[in-house]
Amino acid sequence: MKVAVIGSSHGGYEAVRGVLHDFPNAEIDWYEKGDFVSFLSCGMELYLQGIVKDVNSVSYATVPGMEAKGVHVHINSEVTDINPEKHTMKIVDVNNGKEVSTNYDKLILSVGALPFELPIPGKELSNIYAMRGRDWAIKLKKAEIDPEINNVTVIGSGYIGIEAAESFNRAGKNVTLIEHNPSILGTYLDPEFTDILAKEMEDHGITVKTGQSAKEFIGNDKKQVSAVVSSNGDEFPADLVIETAGIRPNTKWLKDIVKLDDHAMIVTDEYQQTSEPDIFAVGDATEVEFAPTGKKQLIALASNARRQGRSAAYNLNEKRRKTTAVSGSSALHVFDYKFASTGVKEVTAKKIGVEVESVFVTDTKVPPFVPAPYNAKVYFKLTFDPKTREIKGAQIMSKMDTTANMNTISLAIQQHMTVDDLAYADFFFQPGFDRPWNIMNIAAQKAQDKLDK
Ligand code: FAD
Repeated sequence: MKVAVIGSSHGGYEAVRGVLHDFPNAEIDWYEKGDFVSFLSCGMELYLQGIVKDVNSVSYATVPGMEAKGVHVHINSEVTDINPEKHTMKIVDVNNGKEVSTNYDKLILSVGALPFELPIPGKELSNIYAMRGRDWAIKLKKAEIDPEINNVTVIGSGYIGIEAAESFNRAGKNVTLIEHNPSILGTYLDPEFTDILAKEMEDHGITVKTGQSAKEFIGNDKKQVSAVVSSNGDEFPADLVIETAGIRPNTKWLKDIVKLDDHAMIVTDEYQQTSEPDIFAVGDATEVEFAPTGKKQLIALASNARRQGRSAAYNLNEKRRKTTAVSGSSALHVFDYKFASTGVKEVTAKKIGVEVESVFVTDTKVPPFVPAPYNAKVYFKLTFDPKTREIKGAQIMSKMDTTANMNTISLAIQQHMTVDDLAYADFFFQPGFDRPWNIMNIAAQKAQDKLDK
């Protein structure tokens, strides 16, 4: 069997690994249009903050390493067309434009997404950057040490915007963060958390401007960006703009090849099969089943791309295992605070059409007699369906690392557990690690009280 995998980031890498594992006799061709395989944008912050020194190490695989496993790796090779009927595809060498054709038996697409570029006046100016992929990582690192760049404006305060703002603040730049939602990190956390995090950013010298969007980029006589004008009419100085205002699926070229939905996402079934039986798709160009609702939606996470990649490989010849529903579990730090969230938040509930209630509790990580720095305040919010009592989501934050609790909640959501299941669930206690009642127990007991009133 000849298997072609297109794209070498999380989804593509996992698909190749899966095919190697499940079909050891398969001939695998792995195509990547960039000059590098398997760059992991998730590691970009660690690189920008100097924790990881070598940009090339931010990867799972190397060309020689994968070739040694028998994979034919084709870098600088952009797949530009596919003929599903004939099982052929065209590949262009991005260095010289030379085109070749080849055939496949099974094909896995992991073509990912592209950063959204704001269509506003001044968008053609230089020094307007994105933050995705190795090329941008290298450019951003250079900008961090460029003495000509003092003022940096970051547009968008999702995970990537937060990572950009903190990295450039740590590099000594004067950073402004513009967010069109009423609060930062609006799809990940409710205001009980984001108010504290916005203050944390401001305390470190970042100017946080919420409830306004970028309307225009102003340039200087060198055609470089010099300021960002917001919807409020405010003007923020900017020698560099980092746009982190969302992504779009990289699927324009696929529109007549496989079925796309209204948002240009590749339509797949739960086995990752597209409208073409021998073409599978995974990653940020596809949707995943959101466990709290059972509906498909875009949740652009490496963890999802990996699961889907594994699934696609496993199901190449027959539908053997469905891709697991996910809850969009994710974690990040904002300076000293570490937070994680999973499932539905109150800020997102309306948008996805679910009715939820929540309880918010604060506690200390370990018993109060344990002093700092071995102890810290913990903020926790549990979200549930008031009718079925099913757990639908949670958020946690502390200056100590309590984020792994979200994996427990993610599993509870996946298994349709209720607040009653969680209220007295057995969690360990040892004063160096925890309290006799884990904060998840406490919140679930409070939820029972609220529901039983
Ligand atoms: P992509 O990563 O978009 O990669 C697609 C690849 O396909 C690219 O290499 C591209 O060059 C190649 N390609 C595209 N079209 C073609 C073609 N026609 N021919 C050949 N090659 C092609 N997720 C987490 O779970 N945790 C995190 O901490 C996290 N942090 C992140 C931080 C940043 C800064 C960013 C940008 C993302 C982060 N993510 C994180 C999200 C995660 O990186 C993505 O969900 C994941 O990379 C998606 O993988 P993918 O395989 O769908 O595609």
